[in-house]
Amino acid sequence: MYCQSNDELLELVNEARKVAKDGKVADYIPALGKANPGDLAVAIHYPDGTCLSAGDIERKITLQSISKVISLALVLMDRGYEHVFHHVGMEPTGDPFNSIAKLETMDVAKPLNPMINAGALAVTHLIIGSNVAERLQRLLKFIQTMAGNPDIGYCQEVAQSEFETAFLNRALCYFLKEHGIIKEDVEQLLDLYTKQCAIEMNCLDLARIGLVFAMDGVDPDSKAQVIPKDVARICKTFMVTCGMYNASGEFAIKIGIPAKSGVSGGIMGAVPRKFGIGVFGPALDEKGNSIAGIKFLEQLSRNYSLSMF
Ligand code: GLU
Repeated sequence: MYCQSNDELLELVNEARKVAKDGKVADYIPALGKANPGDLAVAIHYPDGTCLSAGDIERKITLQSISKVISLALVLMDRGYEHVFHHVGMEPTGDPFNSIAKLETMDVAKPLNPMINAGALAVTHLIIGSNVAERLQRLLKFIQTMAGNPDIGYCQEVAQSEFETAFLNRALCYFLKEHGIIKEDVEQLLDLYTKQCAIEMNCLDLARIGLVFAMDGVDPDSKAQVIPKDVARICKTFMVTCGMYNASGEFAIKIGIPAKSGVSGGIMGAVPRKFGIGVFGPALDEKGNSIAGIKFLEQLSRNYSLSMF
């Protein structure tokens, strides 16, 4: 039996919130620095439509790196396995998300996986459409379908703030362009990528998306296969091997569910065939994961034996 009530969830939230003071809000994207470090919101979405939530659930978060799993799913559907993995690898790095180091030491200069920034930029490059607006619209439509919420959009302030300060991501793009991994104009790709990262929703929407991954790509209401099963499987595997930055190994041992985090303090979890989880707690630990969010998930996993291993 899993968590049954909002009160049960609230108890876990109140306990986990205590560690938020030990974390720090990301401010390398200036607009993210405005978040309240003490916030914590969680939601659980079950396949029967039940949705539990607790904490500061009215807050909206930008997806940041969580968007990388979703753009990967879209691009695998658009372009197919061979084409995508010609541009990006499948191996965890153990390096920080924005590291350029491995690109230079590899024989073929292709990013090691789609969850680090270099790999995510290569994936976003593959989103089909005739211009940035059309490509973003396709991604948004896909996300709206998975969340069951047609109102999801992106936060212009956060997108603009990242676009103006994304010097490292520009460097990654130029490196990838030099090596033929990306072919489009770098400013255009960054425009799309920063808007993708700024896609905004609350933790209930996030849990609903996690649920679609958890259910092997099937929409829990319409029962439509919105992501092919194999694509959902690939995405969840990346979530396990590199979804939680260079703390993915520790997360797999301590919590043991496919999950993806972002520097905004969001975490999307997909407990296979059971439920989806959305978490938002902007104070981050030293690896860049929501410190209170991790604490919450640790307790949740322990209480309900969620580890898949
Ligand atoms: N937009 C962020 C960046 O590219 C995403 C990073 C993250 O959430 O890990 O730096």
